[in-house]
Amino acid sequence: MLQSHLQNLIAKAHRYQEEPERFERTSTEGDALSVTVHGANGDHYVVLLDGHLTCDCDGFAQRGEGICAHVLAVEHHFQEELPANAVDWPFATA
Ligand SMILES: [Zn+2]
Repeated sequence: MLQSHLQNLIAKAHRYQEEPERFERTSTEGDALSVTVHGANGDHYVVLLDGHLTCDCDGFAQRGEGICAHVLAVEHHFQEELPANAVDWPFATA
């Protein structure tokens, strides 16, 4: 993955984080976290599965990147409820 692509994802995630109304929690208290993210191009569904966040968007699943703006934004927004390393970074970051 290109570094610039990752930077685009992070920039997009930051924009989502500034708009908390985009995050709609669909799980109940005590269940694994699941969130509908009302993204710029439609809704995406992010779930915590085996300690990792997954998303149903094209970038995450079909391109096999394992990371997208939605999981990044959800990780930040629900930080206190998530385990460490809920997002797998494709490469080490400083
Ligand atoms: Zn996504």
